[in-house]
Amino acid sequence: MMLDPEVDSRPWEEQLALDDASYRAQLAYLFERSAFYREKLTVAGFPSAEAAGRLTDIAQLPLTEKQELRATCTPANPIGTHLCAAPSEIVRIYSTSGTTGTPSYIPLTATDLEDWVTGSARSYAASGIAAGQRIVTTYNAGPFVAGAALASFDRIGLCHIPVGTGNTERLITAIELLKPEATALTPSYAAHLVERTSERGFDLRGSSVERVLVAGEPGGGEPSFRAQLEEGWGAHVTEAMGIGDIGISLWGECEEQDGMHLGARGFVHAELIDPETGNELELEDGGSGELVLTHLRSQAAPLLRFRTRDHVAVRTSPCPCGRTGPRVRCIGRTDDMLIVRGVNVFPSAVREVVSAFAPQVSGHILVKPRSAGVKQEPPLPVVVELARGATEDAALAEAIREKLRSVLVVQARVDLVPWGSLRRSEYKSTLVER
Ligand SMILES: [Zn+2]
Repeated sequence: MMLDPEVDSRPWEEQLALDDASYRAQLAYLFERSAFYREKLTVAGFPSAEAAGRLTDIAQLPLTEKQELRATCTPANPIGTHLCAAPSEIVRIYSTSGTTGTPSYIPLTATDLEDWVTGSARSYAASGIAAGQRIVTTYNAGPFVAGAALASFDRIGLCHIPVGTGNTERLITAIELLKPEATALTPSYAAHLVERTSERGFDLRGSSVERVLVAGEPGGGEPSFRAQLEEGWGAHVTEAMGIGDIGISLWGECEEQDGMHLGARGFVHAELIDPETGNELELEDGGSGELVLTHLRSQAAPLLRFRTRDHVAVRTSPCPCGRTGPRVRCIGRTDDMLIVRGVNVFPSAVREVVSAFAPQVSGHILVKPRSAGVKQEPPLPVVVELARGATEDAALAEAIREKLRSVLVVQARVDLVPWGSLRRSEYKSTLVER
């Protein structure tokens, strides 16, 4: 089902032409209102919106890093110098949990919030959920942008049942009594629930839930991991992805499960770069690299060529669902990437290879780099948890090691540990121990 068929199925070239006009207006707005970009672009040799050119020239402009924005925050301007709107125009301020302690603030005007919800609703509607159905959600949105994603369920016309994070009993009871057709949660929590419900004898497979919508971390699109979730839930699993500074659930997967469509088309422009060099990569079928996003009509705090740190694989072949434009699947966070003797290794890709050994393994892994930093000397230690009741098996460890070598071209050391040894998460999983 398409929420907005005219937009969702618009020929991509037509979309890019519309985006070009939006982009040039956004550039003019940045030069007029953004102290941050006026300075950054002028220093880079682009003293005006005209000099910065068209959307097809965007790769010549500098990238924006999260730390650059943070560095401009002061007690007098806690949001940063990229703030473009007057205080009276701001209707919402979300925050991200910065690793350094001080949160980063994300301001929105009424139009920004409306665009966020519209894009998110298109992304989630791609999963097949439809008006009149019930969805139980487990996000404790609190200060976080996920709160706006919840509004997109209202937009689609769903009956929304929020139960919050970490209250598994409440969630199971809601599924039993209220019989929702769908649920939205992180892939880690979805996996955790499969284990928890089987422990207490609740028949998750036989429940009313037909669709599991996962977001918040990579994993939902990894075939083996997804197969485990679908088996455990007896339901169709699709994923969505956003990034706090740009927008929530910008991308959402359709029932073809072949990458996420850009629900936020018209609001956001996507590019691909090589994370090592920052060089532009072609957004073409089979390509992969770090996703870079640009706001096209943001008012409160527009960002230009923002590095998301999400490493994605791209599909551009026509999708049978009728939605146009490139699709992406998140392979992992650039920040989690390790380089083992010149080969890029994502912990989520390691989990994907290991998960194919189910039902002998639980699907939980932990990569334990032997040294600080990105570059690692082989073998890369990988802790693999066995399935419940399974015992130490040298042949299994060897088979996993061999599979990691053939699929990811990485020499690993595989340590099998009993079921229950690795920490479970009710929100997002940690796959690397630093
Ligand atoms: Zn599709």
